[in-house]
Amino acid sequence: MGRFETERNEMVEQLRERGITDTRILRAMAQVERHLFVPEPFTNKAYDDSALPIGKGQTISQPFTVAFMTQCLGVRRGEKVLEVGTGSGYQAAVLAALGVRVFTIERNPELLAGARRILDRLGFRVVSKGGDGSIGWPAFAPFSGIIVTAAAPDVPQPLLKQMDEGGKIVIPVGSRDIQALAVITRIGERYDRREVESFKFVPLIGKMGWEG
Ligand code: SAM
Repeated sequence: MGRFETERNEMVEQLRERGITDTRILRAMAQVERHLFVPEPFTNKAYDDSALPIGKGQTISQPFTVAFMTQCLGVRRGEKVLEVGTGSGYQAAVLAALGVRVFTIERNPELLAGARRILDRLGFRVVSKGGDGSIGWPAFAPFSGIIVTAAAPDVPQPLLKQMDEGGKIVIPVGSRDIQALAVITRIGERYDRREVESFKFVPLIGKMGWEG
């Protein structure tokens, strides 16, 4: 049995009890070794349902948040997803384990380098770049899904433009302290917006985000 397999299965069981019903996501999260995405001192806490520090004042999101946002995104194998805020690389790995084509942007070069190392070591195929993800990644647009893992004052317009027909953006929107998770679906030229949960995220810093 692999390291922390029992703890990982318990984490997945808790996610199921908290309402994550998509079995593909539960399987992906049972597969991805979260303890390899957190700094050494937190290895033993990797399967607690909590966010953990990853350095540079940033965090790896709580497992429930990752599962919930991924479930809201509702993407299928082979589709293209843009993630804004690579952080540890864990969310990107979960998406890659689902078979989606992941493009991810991180503004902090050291975090990006760390994420790149572990994603490559584990063999997850993820396309990444450093920079401001609040303006999206036009070269690879349109995307079936866009997941923003940092909080924005509003939904960045460039991201709306980079969505495919029927595509979804999942993004925490609100003040710097508290946000509602917005799920926006593009239907033709119309955007349907729902707000589904309250969360607390680190801020999205950039042209279409907050000032650094
Ligand atoms: N998805 C990450 C994971 O699985 O570990 C969690 C990310 S953490 C909550 C948010 C990340 O967004 C931080 O690493 C931060 O540096 C990054 N970030 C903030 N503003 C950004 C921007 N404009 N473009 C790209 N990354 C940004």
